[in-house]
Amino acid sequence: MIIDAHTHIHPDAKGFGEKYDASVENLINSLENSDVDKAIVLPIYPEIPNKFVADACKKYPDKLIGFASVNPLEGVKAAEILEKDVKRYNLKGLKLHPRLQDFDLKDPRLIPIFQKCAELKIPVVVDAFPGINLSNNESIPVLIGRIASTVPDVNIIIAHAGGYKILDTLFVAKSYENIYLDISYTPFYFQGSSIERDIKFVIKKIGANRCIYGSDHPELELSSTFDLSVKLLKKYGLSKEEMKYILGETINSLIS
Ligand SMILES: [Zn+2]
Repeated sequence: MIIDAHTHIHPDAKGFGEKYDASVENLINSLENSDVDKAIVLPIYPEIPNKFVADACKKYPDKLIGFASVNPLEGVKAAEILEKDVKRYNLKGLKLHPRLQDFDLKDPRLIPIFQKCAELKIPVVVDAFPGINLSNNESIPVLIGRIASTVPDVNIIIAHAGGYKILDTLFVAKSYENIYLDISYTPFYFQGSSIERDIKFVIKKIGANRCIYGSDHPELELSSTFDLSVKLLKKYGLSKEEMKYILGETINSLIS
């Protein structure tokens, strides 16, 4: 089964900007025009509520898999809300976005939330694409690694493979078995740069069974991004087996 593990929809179809169509219908359309079987839909609290994602998944149960989002600053209370929403909406993971949700990955209030995910046996996707604000030059993958060491029984997915910090992601993944990486967006943002080659290097070093494909639809449209990504993975010289893991098996093993 082919799964796109990183997509978004928005209650306002123009919620990601005029250029993009973030409607549920557009996502379903893209899926139907592609070889991708299912898409994981990631909400972002408070802009994209869990219920909105859950309703879309209910409407398209064969196509969409919903994750949850919470206000990470609410700590224990967020963990309680998470449990309630995961159970009542059948959500399969948690998405956190330090940049858009404006929180610090060193904040101790995050720990009960990660512990709850361990208890619920759901993975946590953390956005790790570095912002352009260099006033805070800490390495997001390294900060995620600290959480992975504090809560060793939760599976954490470093989204966008950490962007240009991808080699930090490699060492964090080497250090902590519960770290996975999603290769969405970064190969295209850094197309033609050394980072495009680093992605291959990292996949080979940590193994395809810890790497996950995603598009970041609608910013990168699901169907065309899938075709380009398969081309790129083939250019990397990955085996059929490795491709199978990246394009679905790895994420499937974390959510089922
Ligand atoms: Zn995203």
